[in-house]
Amino acid sequence: MNHAEVAAASFDFQRARKAALGWFQTNGRRFPWRDDPTPYRVWISEIMLQQTTTQTVLGYFERFLARFPTVETLAAASEEETLKYWEGLGYYRRARSLRAAAIEIVDRFDSQFPSNYADVLSLPGVGRYAAGAILSFGFDKRFPILEANTTRLHARLIGLLEETTTASAQRLLWKFAEDWLPQESTRRAPGVYRGINGALTDLGRLVCAPVEPRCDDCPLAKQCAANRLGLQEKVPVLKKKAEPIRRVDVALLVFRSDLERATAVDEIDGKTPRAPSDVLLIRRPQNSLWAGLWDFPRFEVVDARFADAQDFSADASLAERLQFFLEEEVGAPPRDYRVGKTITTVRHSVTRYRVALRVCQLVGSATNLAPREERTLFDSLEQPEPSGVRGDLETRLRSESFAARQAAESRWVPLASLPDYPLSSPGRRVADWLAKNASKKFF
Ligand code: SF4
Repeated sequence: MNHAEVAAASFDFQRARKAALGWFQTNGRRFPWRDDPTPYRVWISEIMLQQTTTQTVLGYFERFLARFPTVETLAAASEEETLKYWEGLGYYRRARSLRAAAIEIVDRFDSQFPSNYADVLSLPGVGRYAAGAILSFGFDKRFPILEANTTRLHARLIGLLEETTTASAQRLLWKFAEDWLPQESTRRAPGVYRGINGALTDLGRLVCAPVEPRCDDCPLAKQCAANRLGLQEKVPVLKKKAEPIRRVDVALLVFRSDLERATAVDEIDGKTPRAPSDVLLIRRPQNSLWAGLWDFPRFEVVDARFADAQDFSADASLAERLQFFLEEEVGAPPRDYRVGKTITTVRHSVTRYRVALRVCQLVGSATNLAPREERTLFDSLEQPEPSGVRGDLETRLRSESFAARQAAESRWVPLASLPDYPLSSPGRRVADWLAKNASKKFF
């Protein structure tokens, strides 16, 4: 046994439980999902809390519950509406999984939230942590939880000098988290499992902070190996973060007046009057980032020569992909479409990527340009790609990168209707910018 395993095996859980629960009674945080911990509410909160701070979730939880108060209402909602209520929380796969799980609960479990571990774990979007959280917080059952706060707390309590994500460290931490919970057979107070897991989460969050843990105020200080050995700064040992990757994308503002005769773009509805300033939105296809959400068409700038550009009209690679998208997916008449000047930049992060999203208008779409038979794409580009010969184009259009569609659907949307659409988070920032600048000259 190494020293952390020895510390875990000899840990005085009975004494520690008493200290943690006593602290929790006066210091535990109040949340709406704790005040009324039905399995449904706990489930929604736990899925929202994945990758998102409690502060942010608080702003969404009540609104989501007001619209979807029961599993039946969530199961009956459209994906689009579910995404709209999730907009801004990010990681939208969670919202799609919630809805899919709600449908399963209605169909498979007769609208009753399952209370069996295997059934809960079988629901879309529910992993080991979420299953434990739902069963302990929602049903007060004996299931451990291990997330960032409790991982740090437990690792320090046993002085774990190993990276916390390794298989052996995970085994030890899960076992330690489980040993915190008294056996079912002993006479126990109601709410004890819910209480212990809540206390450990709050202790990790509020006292055993990542930097400068408040050991002087900690009810577990006397039993803590890291405190005893002065290892607070060394534990937990975290996996090194991957270096961020910089990337430049272009988002296109395409107005109805740019593409009057586009044939594959839907109208918002039959009643809304058409306006030249209606803007093109696409619904992102399945298996893409922000799948199912609406967005402005966007393309990665892959030619390094344009990484710092503010005008992309000479970027042949971008023009090829744009041409393909507009003609094949939007049904635009063939012209020399290009991405023009940057009118604003939205910076955002996606996983390891730090993205500079250049918001640009379409150029080359004026109706007085000659049709493509007379004026080829490459004729009009100042700097064709070094390998860019006309014969390559068809082959490349059929290649995998071109075959990946931008849009599951395209639609002309009046600027005033943009707030009604569930947009990707960068798409929402572009829409907000548009709303503020709608009267400016470039329209
Ligand atoms: S004594 Fe310090 S390091 Fe140990 S659990 Fe408490 S706050 Fe964390």
